[in-house]
Amino acid sequence: MKVVFAPELNKIEVREMTLDAPKAGEVKIKMSATGVCHSDLSIVNDTFPNSYPMALGHEGSGVIEEIGEGVTNVKPGDPVVLAFVPNCRDCFHCLRGEAYLCERKNILGAGSQLDGTHRLHDGDTDIPVMSGMGCMAEYVVTPSMCVVPIDPDINMQVAALVGCAVTTGVGAVLNTAEVEPGSSVVVFGCGGVGISVIQGAVLAGAERIIAVDLNEDKLEMAKKFGATHLVKAHDKVAREIRGLTGGRGADYAFEAIGLGPVMEQAYASTRNGGKCTIVGMGKMGGKFSLDPFTFPLFAKTLCGCMYGSANPGIDFPKMLNLYTAGKLDLEGMITKTYSIDEAPQAFEDMVNGLNARGVIVYE
Ligand SMILES: [Zn+2]
Ligand SMILES: [Zn+2]
Repeated sequence: MKVVFAPELNKIEVREMTLDAPKAGEVKIKMSATGVCHSDLSIVNDTFPNSYPMALGHEGSGVIEEIGEGVTNVKPGDPVVLAFVPNCRDCFHCLRGEAYLCERKNILGAGSQLDGTHRLHDGDTDIPVMSGMGCMAEYVVTPSMCVVPIDPDINMQVAALVGCAVTTGVGAVLNTAEVEPGSSVVVFGCGGVGISVIQGAVLAGAERIIAVDLNEDKLEMAKKFGATHLVKAHDKVAREIRGLTGGRGADYAFEAIGLGPVMEQAYASTRNGGKCTIVGMGKMGGKFSLDPFTFPLFAKTLCGCMYGSANPGIDFPKMLNLYTAGKLDLEGMITKTYSIDEAPQAFEDMVNGLNARGVIVYE
C-alpha cells in the first residue's frame, strides 16, 4: 500500500510500505479522502518539532476495514472521520469535556500507537505516523478513540475536511470565541482554516467579517464564503482594521496562520475588551510580544485555540449536520482533488496558494 511521507527534512515521497493488523484498541481504515493541510507541511519543513522519517496526513475520512480486540465504538464497514487528538474519556481533560487537550495525545506526538510501538514499516524500518495516524495513505491503523463514526450518506471528501480545517476554524468561532450575532470579526489568513473561521462567523451572525491575506486569490475566495471586507496584508494593517470598525478594532480577531508578527497584528486589531483567538500554530520557540502597560489597560482577552476547542464525538457530526442543512459550504472548499501519486504536487499547489483545500482521493 502507498504512503505519503517525509523521508528527511523538506522532502515528500510516495512509497510502498507495509502495515500490521490492528492490535487491541486499534482500528484499520481504508482511506477515502485526505485533506492537505499546512500542518502537514509544518512536519516536512520542521516548523513543528519532529523526527524523520514521518508518514504525513491528519485530516481524513475512510471506512473501517478491521478492528482490534476490545473495540466497541465502530465495526467493519462503518464510515469514519479521523480525529488527530484522541478522546480517551477518562483523563483530567476529557472528564472536563476538553477532549482537544486529551492527555493521551502526548503519546501520539511521538508518531506511535498508544503502546509506543509502530504498525507502519518500510522494510525493516518502523515509520512513525503524524498524530498517531499518518492518514495520507491507502490504509491506516490508529487507536479507536481517534475515529468518529458518521452518517453513511455523507460525501467522504467533505467528511475529510471535518477532521481538521472545518472543526478547527468553525470551532474557534462557535466554541472558543463564542462570537455573538451582530459583532465584527477579522480573520488573518484565508487558507482552509481561515475560510472555516469565515464560515463560522457567518453562522454566528457576525455583522462584518474582514478577511486579511497577502494573496489576492485567497481574498476573492474569502469573499465567496462570506467575508464582507477584504484587506491585503501590510505592516500597518491593524490601523486599517480599526478604520473599518468604528476606530476601535474588531470585537473578535482570529489568527489562522501561525506567525508571531501576525498574532501581534491580530491582537492590535482587536477592540479594547474584545477577544483575540490564536488558531494558527507557529514554530516552536518563536515569540510574540505584549506591552505590559497596555495589556491590562486594554482588557482584551488573548486566547489560544486547539482543534476548535472541539469534542470530536459531538462536533464532527455537528459540522456535518450543518453541511447537510446547507449552512456550511464544504464542497466549495475542495478546490482540487489529487491521486496519492500526485501528493507532492498537492503540497506545491498549497504553498502557491492555489487551493482552499486540496484533497487526495483513493481508488
Ligand atoms: Zn490540519
Ligand atoms: Zn483524555
